[in-house]
Amino acid sequence: MNSLDAAESALTTLDALERAGLTHPAQRAALDRVTASFRVRVTPEMAGLAAQGVRAQFAPDIRELTILPEELADPIGDASHAPVPGLTHRYADRAILHVTKACEVYCRFCFRRETVGEAGQLAEAEFAAVLDYLAATPAVREVIFTGGDPLVLSARRLGAMLDRLEALGTLEVVRFHTRVPVVAPDRVSAGLVAALDRALPVWMVIHVNHPDEITPAAAEALRRLNRAGVPLLSQTVLLRGVNADADTLEALFRKLIRHRVKPYYLHHPDLAKGTGHFRVTLAEGQRVMAALRGRLSGIAQPLYVLDIPGGHGKVPVGPAYLRREGDHWVVTDPQGREHLYRDL
Ligand SMILES: *Cc1c(COP(=O)(O)O)cnc(C)c1O
Ligand code: SF4
Repeated sequence: MNSLDAAESALTTLDALERAGLTHPAQRAALDRVTASFRVRVTPEMAGLAAQGVRAQFAPDIRELTILPEELADPIGDASHAPVPGLTHRYADRAILHVTKACEVYCRFCFRRETVGEAGQLAEAEFAAVLDYLAATPAVREVIFTGGDPLVLSARRLGAMLDRLEALGTLEVVRFHTRVPVVAPDRVSAGLVAALDRALPVWMVIHVNHPDEITPAAAEALRRLNRAGVPLLSQTVLLRGVNADADTLEALFRKLIRHRVKPYYLHHPDLAKGTGHFRVTLAEGQRVMAALRGRLSGIAQPLYVLDIPGGHGKVPVGPAYLRREGDHWVVTDPQGREHLYRDL
């Protein structure tokens, strides 16, 4: 199947989701209200998977109608650090480039769920303004392509954008954050891979939440990228009903390293509207991470992070293994036993 066929057969209506058994006709009236607020799209690859932990990520749910007071339209503050349209520059050495609002799938928990799916890619004039900003701001050494999903752009367009970024001479690395290699692996074509194989190193962070998402076709897509010299990392959102237990995460992280992907971040869920049913507490997240420490290879351990609501940045949120007590430190080992440590 080529990428065009895949795009044509994506499920984008409640009729199609009902036919695929992803939603129930009895809930149609309420789900019509959900889809009026939050777009639906599921690729055939993901619609074909039976695991509840996969289905819950894409099937609209009536609980999305519950909007809690603490939930925000822009939970991580993308808009509060935008020097030019399309660019978020919060940390000195790196900036995020929003190249499109389209995705191959619309995840029910997405922190950009109120803007994803709107029409339009970054316009030529906007990209030119981004290049001007970067040329005038050489402290930015890394540009991070995001969206939506940057890999819905054509290989030709991406290659042309990368050429112009490379020509600035100020960048050390370009990074992509994408779900495409997992949810629409056929889009990782020979042409796309060739466009990414260049002098300016391209790193890729794959968004993946459940072990079953790494299908044989996804594994082949990861292998094609790996062969082209693209270092592969992963990011996972900790989600109730999807992966918020040590066994599921262990299976996911083990599968990732088998496919040459280094688990990078485990994100505490963001305060996106209508996503309360997915959220876990920080204490639950810390318990899961503590359970994996010692039991799972170090190269398979991601960092557990929280994006502080309001645009204050991402920080590791534990669990903590070290605390100060008087003139010494107390260190907790992977089995939970405490040890004294004294600085020289
Ligand atoms: C998450 C994020 C980054 C990337 O952060 P890393 O810790 O380097 O992965 C960069 N800019 C913004 C605005 C972000 O939200
Ligand atoms: S692919 Fe990423 S940006 Fe798109 S809906 Fe899913 S989480 Fe959001």
